[in-house]
Amino acid sequence: MHVIITQLSLKSRLREDAGDTHMLLGEEAPHRNGTFKKSCATLRPTSPRALQANKSGRKTQMHRCVAVLLRRYVLHQNHVPESSGTQNSSRSRVWSGVPAHERGGLSARGECNPDIRMLGCSVVAPRCDDGRVLKPCRSTCEDVRRRCAHAFDEISMAWPYFLDCDRFFVSDEEGCYNPLEGLRGQLHAEGHNNSMDLVLSEDPSTRMQFSYQSYTQMTKILKRTEERCAHIAQTYSIGQSSDGRDLLVIEFSNNPGQHELLEPEMKYVANMHGDEATGRQLLIYLAQYLCSEYLMGNERIQALINSTHIHILPSLNPDGYEAAVAGQQDSRYSDDQDHSAAGNTGRNNAQNIDLNRNFPDLTSIAYRRRRNKRYRTDHIPIPDFYWFGKVAPETYAVMKWIRSIPFVLSANFHSGDLVVSYPYDLSRHPLEHNLFSPTPDDKVFKFISKIYSMSHERMSNENAECGSSRTGSKEGTINGAQWSSFSGGMQDFNYLHTNCFEVTVSLGCDKFPSKEDLFDIWHENAEALLAFIEAAHRGIKGLVTDEEGNAIKGARISVKGIRHDITTAENGDYWRLLTPGIHIVSAFAPGFSRAVKKVHLPPNMHTAGRVDFTLQRASAGSQTPEEDDSLPSMGTYERFDPYNQYQRYSPRETDLTQSREERVEMPWWWGYFMMPGGPPPTWLLKQQ
Ligand SMILES: [Zn+2]
Repeated sequence: MHVIITQLSLKSRLREDAGDTHMLLGEEAPHRNGTFKKSCATLRPTSPRALQANKSGRKTQMHRCVAVLLRRYVLHQNHVPESSGTQNSSRSRVWSGVPAHERGGLSARGECNPDIRMLGCSVVAPRCDDGRVLKPCRSTCEDVRRRCAHAFDEISMAWPYFLDCDRFFVSDEEGCYNPLEGLRGQLHAEGHNNSMDLVLSEDPSTRMQFSYQSYTQMTKILKRTEERCAHIAQTYSIGQSSDGRDLLVIEFSNNPGQHELLEPEMKYVANMHGDEATGRQLLIYLAQYLCSEYLMGNERIQALINSTHIHILPSLNPDGYEAAVAGQQDSRYSDDQDHSAAGNTGRNNAQNIDLNRNFPDLTSIAYRRRRNKRYRTDHIPIPDFYWFGKVAPETYAVMKWIRSIPFVLSANFHSGDLVVSYPYDLSRHPLEHNLFSPTPDDKVFKFISKIYSMSHERMSNENAECGSSRTGSKEGTINGAQWSSFSGGMQDFNYLHTNCFEVTVSLGCDKFPSKEDLFDIWHENAEALLAFIEAAHRGIKGLVTDEEGNAIKGARISVKGIRHDITTAENGDYWRLLTPGIHIVSAFAPGFSRAVKKVHLPPNMHTAGRVDFTLQRASAGSQTPEEDDSLPSMGTYERFDPYNQYQRYSPRETDLTQSREERVEMPWWWGYFMMPGGPPPTWLLKQQ
């Protein structure tokens, strides 16, 4: 019984509440088919160390049920740092993102949560007075049930058996107490209570583990996360590494696997350099965090997932990572203090290709064109000669990926400094390797880069940079070419070939920090990771249709003063990241006349402004200026790329299908209550 109380992490509150009354515990958990057998025992003060020790305490199925039920639907948080014994209360800010009292629980209807939690505690940890167990009032139970039953109904879950109002509660006449009195007021006064952070999670693969995970472990975590959040998450592979490892992505959306009209798609990519391990871990945690918080009713996360497609690729270079891990172990056994030799082990892929130099160099093409009066810096075709060179399978997989999904925004995580860099990475002068080389969207890139750096705990601090970016950076951001020029990078390719705006986030100088640092690094980045996803909703979005309302695919959206067009996706929808201010926006498609609109974006706008265009067919024979030869036409764009037949990857064709189908009949929470080797939790199902 002691175990349950510590798992619920409510002992301190209950003890305080009990005041002079001894806080006493029943001997057994409430039994589904029976009643309580209670005796009174004093609750010992519990230290963090004792809490840790209790992790390994006796766990019956009943214990687990109570703890899980309360944690999942009643409590708000379930992340436990490995070093929870040294938990720092100041950290709770980032865990939550949104204060607990602002979040919902079941179906995001938070109003019944505090009561049901306290009610549950009054049963599993009843109050005692003079060695006599006090019983909670039936009327209180019935009242809570009236207000909360709908939430259980919505998810087809039975009302918790231990809150059976007839069995575990007594009437006023029998002498009962209202367990909610006092506790409720205390909860409101406290707001977000840190003690709730210490709730345990039994399944290690659903819990954030602040250590490094092998490729196999990472895959297991991502698939387990997908199972837990089957309604909002889906894993898929964009291809295979040179050594045949799947490049596994997990996508979060209220409709994963399908593009939804006007919902932006964004992506996070890490571990492109196999020896830069921080980003890989952060993205694994992010996936677990998004899943858990969504399930537990974090309204910010729910809103984000319901309105955005978030694609997370934790490791673009899994072969390099495995080599880097081996390198780390070797260097640990050597006496050599200089680890620089081992420092780059695993940076490249298994073919020894640096993936961030392996993309087509479209930047040089853009520079060559800039003297052309009507040049544009978008949708530049891949030149034929690129395919004569060595194209890594990882690079190819990414190119295919980013052409098959209409991504709007992206970040690529590296290490070696603490800064966000933005395109161009290639200097506009071949002999100047630290020359500021802006894109036409320089304002937008600075804007989105700052969203990350300013939301990071220390990236934007003066002198926070630890590498060579220091001289040129501003508020934790720097132009890539000004930092250090190179060609064939991924972010330049994203910008010049697709509609996607990508930046590169350097997460710290240590490429492979010790696992003890991972907890802090997650905290430093958690808010920035969320804020950057939200940035996919900056600017404008809309539909381009003809006069009959038919979607126009491939229409160009131009912004006056920015020589970089965005094109509409399959369904005629587009997204155009823009900074606040006034913009003249126009839409054009071959065979139609141009439509122009003036747009005013206020400074604190957090959802994209909706700007639709209806294009009129141009009269026969009229020559529009857009048909100038210097503009890359979509026809050319397709022709130059030998790999233009893309289909959105369908993970339902993989071996995951079977386990998915087995779950179809069960509610979405089913997998969460499954214990390895244990009986299926049919007793949780609502009787139809
Ligand atoms: Zn790197």
